Amino acid sequence: MIKKNILIVGAGFTGAVIGRELAEKGHKIRIIDSRPHVAGNCYSERDEQTGVMVHTYGPHIFHTDNQEVWDYLNRFAEMMPYTNRVKTTVNGQVFSLPINLHTINQFFNTTCSPSEAQALIESKSDQTISNPQTFEEQAMRFVGKELYEAFFKGYTIKQWGMSPAELPASILKRLPVRFNYDDNYFSHKYQGMPKEGYTPIVENILNHPNITIELNHTFDESDAEGIDHLFFTGPIDAWYGYRFGRLGYRTLDFEKFHTEGDFQGTAVMNYGEEKVPYTRITEHKYFAPWEQHQGSVCYREFSRACTPDDTPYYPIRQMGEMEMLNQYLDLAEQEKNISFAGRLGTYRYLDMDVTIGEALDMAKTYLESIEQNSEMPVFTVKVR
Ligand code: UDP
Repeated sequence: MIKKNILIVGAGFTGAVIGRELAEKGHKIRIIDSRPHVAGNCYSERDEQTGVMVHTYGPHIFHTDNQEVWDYLNRFAEMMPYTNRVKTTVNGQVFSLPINLHTINQFFNTTCSPSEAQALIESKSDQTISNPQTFEEQAMRFVGKELYEAFFKGYTIKQWGMSPAELPASILKRLPVRFNYDDNYFSHKYQGMPKEGYTPIVENILNHPNITIELNHTFDESDAEGIDHLFFTGPIDAWYGYRFGRLGYRTLDFEKFHTEGDFQGTAVMNYGEEKVPYTRITEHKYFAPWEQHQGSVCYREFSRACTPDDTPYYPIRQMGEMEMLNQYLDLAEQEKNISFAGRLGTYRYLDMDVTIGEALDMAKTYLESIEQNSEMPVFTVKVR
């Protein structure tokens, strides 16, 4: 088989997984990343003062239903059991999320059974909304005004910088409403945390004799000379020099602080009220319950519009952004010998398991294209 020279821009999960899959088939892989570290926004490191493993770009919890992805991850990581349980502070009280029977009974001061709670919520919900389009309609239809205003409205305005009436229903659909006492934030079959954080997983994936990595290296046209294919996992608008403008993202600011003992006694405390300027406080030792630490390190999390100097987090994907995205996609679809992948390359908000799954698929498609001497597609997922 002909050995290909591959360049991959970006050493996050997407770039690492594609690189590994192709390296194992004998291809020569060069991966560059403008940051001084691998793992992208999943990067984790130990806090010097406390020894706690911290998720520098905000907490990442691994959860999936995808057996192939779970097995793949476990080849490179020692995963520890972890269940994400989230609390939220509103109106001077602490409630459990996602909305479950405990939340409902505490909020309405009731002792409802599952069926009684279902009837109660139905009586509160706006039944005139048959096909909710916006976040607000979805909330009004499925939880009603009181719960919406307490738990979602303020938080969402802070998180997205706009009214939930302007946001798609799909954002809220990420969260279940449960009529039992199950307070597991996720409903997936597998959930866990890597014993030594995410950075060593990506390092292990990249640890292959056919892979070379260059950090602190921003892509330059000369990098593409003599290569057979380029996988680009950076921002698609950056690839085209922002010629149609910058795609909108939300970025996060973190206010880090240390405490002697425990600060809040749990990993994630949301703050639903708009008057509290941060969305949540995360206490990172609680993401590694198998470890013991005297001190604690926490982050207050603030969301705001991303400027050119910031790290992009959440793609906004509102009407205006989608129009601009389509212009970039029109250009991209004309390309040869380049594929765009990952959160930034396709401008979609992706959980880690989806990222890994899509990267595995893209590598597979590329290997097939070599074998069949066919053209490698620019995208291997639906992006419009
Ligand atoms: N959300 C909310 N209140 C909360 C938690 C979440 O209003 O206490 C909304 C918010 O708009 C968020 C969405 O629900 O973007 C999805 O929540 P998730 O926890 O999945 O947020 P992500 O992982 O995207 O930060």
